[in-house]
Amino acid sequence: MRTQLPLRPYDVVLIGGGIMSATLAMLIKHLEPSWSIAVYERLPEVGAEASAAWNNSGTGHAGLCELDYTTENPDGSIDIEPALELNEQFQLTRQLWASLVQSGVLRKPETFINPVPHMTLARGRQEVDFLRRRHETMSAHHLFANMRFSDDPEVIAEWAPLLTTGRGDSEPIAATRDITGSDVDFGELTGQLFHWLRWQDVEIHRSCEVRGLRRNNDGTWQLRVDWRTDNDRLTRKVDARFVFAGAGGWALKILQKAGIPEAQGYGLLPVSGRFLRCDNPEVVARHEAKVYGRAPAGAPSISMPHLDTRIVNGDRALLFGPYAGANPRLLKRGSLFDAPASLRPGNAGAIAGMLKSNSDLMRLLVTQVASTRKKQLAALRDFVPEARAEDWTLITAGQRAQIVKPDAERGGVLEFGTEVVAAQDGSIAAVLGATPGASTAPVILLEVLERCFPRYTRLWEPRLRELMPSLGQSLAKDPRLARQTQARTAEALGLAGRVVG
Ligand SMILES: Cc1cc2nc3c(=O)[nH]c(=O)nc-3n(C[C@H](O)[C@H](O)[C@H](O)COP(=O)(O)OP(=O)(O)OC[C@H]3O[C@@H](n4cnc5c(N)ncnc54)[C@H](O)[C@@H]3O)c2cc1C
Repeated sequence: MRTQLPLRPYDVVLIGGGIMSATLAMLIKHLEPSWSIAVYERLPEVGAEASAAWNNSGTGHAGLCELDYTTENPDGSIDIEPALELNEQFQLTRQLWASLVQSGVLRKPETFINPVPHMTLARGRQEVDFLRRRHETMSAHHLFANMRFSDDPEVIAEWAPLLTTGRGDSEPIAATRDITGSDVDFGELTGQLFHWLRWQDVEIHRSCEVRGLRRNNDGTWQLRVDWRTDNDRLTRKVDARFVFAGAGGWALKILQKAGIPEAQGYGLLPVSGRFLRCDNPEVVARHEAKVYGRAPAGAPSISMPHLDTRIVNGDRALLFGPYAGANPRLLKRGSLFDAPASLRPGNAGAIAGMLKSNSDLMRLLVTQVASTRKKQLAALRDFVPEARAEDWTLITAGQRAQIVKPDAERGGVLEFGTEVVAAQDGSIAAVLGATPGASTAPVILLEVLERCFPRYTRLWEPRLRELMPSLGQSLAKDPRLARQTQARTAEALGLAGRVVG
């Protein structure tokens, strides 16, 4: 192993080559084209971890189908605020992608996003009643005006025949359907963004792992990068004024190496995800939707079962799952020591408290690991009653790293969202957590920009508005603007654009 002398200080260094780094680098290149940017990715390819097409479900999360974004209030009314917030965030994502397609940064939209209706399935009287009331509340809002409800099995059979064929009529069912939903290939999107960045003189170094990080006397950061070539391995020291840890499940590890106080107390719970995948064209042709159901009692939202149409490289397939399980890795291609190595005196209490207050979840994750093929098929047949075992193959998706935070009462709590953690001086930042993740990357990264470059906020605003025209305005409160924006991005991205109300 050889060690090389420091290279020039970069304005920006991004650790990790997933959708987060790709999106942030692209935004910075639009805002400050002269800034020097380098990306270091430990794998030989970019977009090969959680962002890869088959490592996630490819749902363009817009609050249309996921039950966990709507809850019932004690008075029986339905709180749709979280769904509205998510929808607004995805509308910004759509605007950004539409602008990038129009300016030629991204290729034809069908290479990475396709219209796929989003549905929610309810089974049993209680769930059907909830779904009906949820639909009444949601469809009254202009952002969800396209949502349809039916408790008629014949209508549901028209929408998604795999759900109804062979299903007895012993329990009532109902469904909602919104045709404005989408399937996204985040891996392809990541690849296209990096392709463009390479042409903008952004250095993208693959097979390069950032192993160490320390502050220089002038406040910049020095990164120790392990550089692998076919027949050599060298260590380089790289200086940066700003560091973004877009390292997915390893982002906390980077912050811990940096030693910033803002990261203290945070822990991570790794959760593995497996899915059943079907490529039989006859079965695939009979389903075109992403259908979400309710997670089993006591299980977290990440175990919400869903049956997805996936469109990857122009080929269609179906995905069912997830079968979430326990696994100590924080990246799919991480190490068995990841979770233990992330333990620190500052977060051990939070982890212990979280494990204690989530014992049902821990049991579920452990039992899911040992789940038999028979049980996996039984869960699938709850959705697709006539599913044949020979059509479905088990695949392993990406690792989720859920956030654990200290809590005064319980010691530690498990969170299912994403969170930006940044040093007070704005010189380093990271995104922790997995959901809704890739769909809302632009909003998450706007927060990184705001917190880390506050002096530039006003200067950058007009350029950001060119990319996302509704930025700073509320689509939830402005039906006309919402209609115009949805119609414009639907056209630019080839999505279903019928907007009512
Ligand atoms: C099972 C599953 C289903 C999901 N479904 C959806 C969905 O339907 N819709 C949605 O919007 N989101 C979904 N997500 C979330 C989404 O996939 C993630 O939020 C998103 O891909 C995270 O992107 P990222 O760039 O932060 O991380 P990643 O794509 O994981 O990229 C991180 C990169 O950093 C590299 N790296 C790490 N450490 C280092 C280091 N020290 N040096 C150099 N490189 C390093 C890794 O090799 C990796 O390439 C899902 C996630 C999972 C796991």
